[in-house]
Amino acid sequence: MKIGVIGGGQLGRMLALAGTPLGMNFAFLDPAPDACAQALGEHIRADYGDQDHLRQLADEVDLVTFEFESVPAETVAFLSQFVPVYPCAESLRIARDRWFEKSMFKELSIPTPAFADIQSQADLDAAAASIGLPAVLKTRTLGYDGKGQKVLRAASDVVDAFAELGSVPCLLEGFVPFSGEVSLVAVRGRDGETRFYPLVHNTHDSGILSLSVASSDHPLQALAEDYASRVLNKLNYVGVLAFEFFEVDGGLKANEIAPRVHNSGHWTIEGAECSQFENHLRAVAGLPLGSTAKVGESAMLNFIGEVPDVRKVMAIDDCHLHHYGKAFKVGRKVGHATLRCADRATLDAKIAAVQALIAQA
Ligand code: AMP
Repeated sequence: MKIGVIGGGQLGRMLALAGTPLGMNFAFLDPAPDACAQALGEHIRADYGDQDHLRQLADEVDLVTFEFESVPAETVAFLSQFVPVYPCAESLRIARDRWFEKSMFKELSIPTPAFADIQSQADLDAAAASIGLPAVLKTRTLGYDGKGQKVLRAASDVVDAFAELGSVPCLLEGFVPFSGEVSLVAVRGRDGETRFYPLVHNTHDSGILSLSVASSDHPLQALAEDYASRVLNKLNYVGVLAFEFFEVDGGLKANEIAPRVHNSGHWTIEGAECSQFENHLRAVAGLPLGSTAKVGESAMLNFIGEVPDVRKVMAIDDCHLHHYGKAFKVGRKVGHATLRCADRATLDAKIAAVQALIAQA
């Protein structure tokens, strides 16, 4: 089976690493000459709107999937004429726009921060008055890793904030005084079967995920699964979907969904019976889903900007290095390490050891 992937970054690369042993081949469509997934499959170097190359991809593969959600709607619609596309166009339409996403949470009675659509500075002034400060202004589309957003704490921050984010459609959200951030990685097959990984506790550094720790028997697991199920069923979703939540007042508030494999699920490569990457491929290919059970205490640490001394990383027992083969650049995710240990105390000690290497890099 040949799988077409829109995007050829590290997520595409890890999909291919998981799918190759299943007998799958891969083609990646990505305009970047140095797309790091090209080491694992064919690289169709073209823009996402290039219909000739999209048609070439569609003709070559059995199905198409995505490694990022900001794919133009026309690209998805065009491909869907010729080849099965998972997840479906509607899932991408909702997930790529924070207004559609938050409106869906509201419709499904999933708690989420107060929010308002912002098309102008006048809209922002009115929404800041009704939602109150602090609040977070976010571009409706194309935001990631803390980019395209601004925390508004004082009235002076509101003045000109719309222009500062580029005068594009935005969303204003109430600021959530969360005690933690967790994510749930779910997978749903073509037949509707759904499985969930354990909730993951996430820590960010300057808006970028730095550490994910898989939980054991998290008290909010069932609630998170309930909320995620509502979304998966509403969208008739196929594939892996990640759901990010704020932990607040002993409950959960939905932040966002990602209609793809997710950074907070990388620990599953070594830490779960079947990784998120393999399960995404199983789901889109119509194969039986794999077990989402943890196989130890597990955590993932991102390497941002550069990979620390690989000899030292590899010298830590129970530590698995993932080097994406990308050029090092400030703020760029260039690799990660997964830890898998027998008990939590050992895991915590090893997290500290990897963090020390990251600090030295
Ligand atoms: P996002 O791109 O929406 O995932 O936001 C990036 C990060 O900003 C989140 O992981 C939170 O740490 C923080 N953040 C986003 N929205 C809010 C909010 N409404 N209240 C408090 N913190 C937020």
